[in-house]
Amino acid sequence: MVEKSREKNQILSEIITETVFKYLTDAGLTSNQDFTIPVEVSNHHVHLTREALDILFGKDYQLTKVRDISQPGEFASNEKVTLVSSKMKIIEGVRIVGPERTYNQAELTVADGYVLGLNLPTRLSGDVIGSQPITMIGPNGALNLLEGAIRAARHIHMTPEDAEKYQVKNNQRVKVETKGENGVIFKNVIIRVSDKCKLAFHIDIEEANAANIQGTTYCRILYK
Ligand SMILES: [Zn+2]
Repeated sequence: MVEKSREKNQILSEIITETVFKYLTDAGLTSNQDFTIPVEVSNHHVHLTREALDILFGKDYQLTKVRDISQPGEFASNEKVTLVSSKMKIIEGVRIVGPERTYNQAELTVADGYVLGLNLPTRLSGDVIGSQPITMIGPNGALNLLEGAIRAARHIHMTPEDAEKYQVKNNQRVKVETKGENGVIFKNVIIRVSDKCKLAFHIDIEEANAANIQGTTYCRILYK
C-alpha cells in the first residue's frame, strides 16, 4: 500500500514537472544556455557625419579618442555637443561616439526624452527616418536636424558563428535573462548579426540601473 502511494506521488510529481516546464517553455521562459553573453551599458551619445562635424567643430576637424569601446573601430571621443529641443529644453555635454557616420543621430534615454519634452521612438541605431527633431550645438556652429533623436532599441551584436551557436537569426526578437539574484528578463531584444562585431548585449544606462546591472554581468537568450 505504501509502495503504491509512493509510486502515485512519483507519477504526479513527474506530471507537475512536465506541465510547469511546458508552461515556462510556451511562455519563452526556458533556456538551455549558460550565461555567456556580456552585458554592456551605454550612456546617451550622438553619431555625426563628416558634414555635421564641419559645421559643429570646423572644417576637417578630427575627433580625438578617449578610449575604444566594445565594438571594433568604435570609440568615445573627447568632443561633446549640447542638445536643444523644439521646446527649448537643453541637455549639455553629450559625447560623440566615433568614427564618423553616414547619418546624424542622438541616442537618448527615456529620462532625456522627459527633459527635452520629446516622445522618443525606440529604434535601432541608424534608423532615424521619422524620428524626433533635435538641434545640436558645437563650438563652431549649430545643426538643426528634422529627425535624428531616438531611444536605442536593446540589441545583441553577434557574428554569424555566434548566431549559429545560439540558434538565432539577424533581426529576430528574443527574450534575454540577466544573471544573478536581481536578474531580470528583457523582451524585444533585437539580434544584429555582422562579421565585424563582438558578442555583446547592449542596453542603455537607465535600463541597466532598473535591472540592478553593475560591473561585469552576463546574460542568456530564452527560447520559445
Ligand atoms: Zn550596440
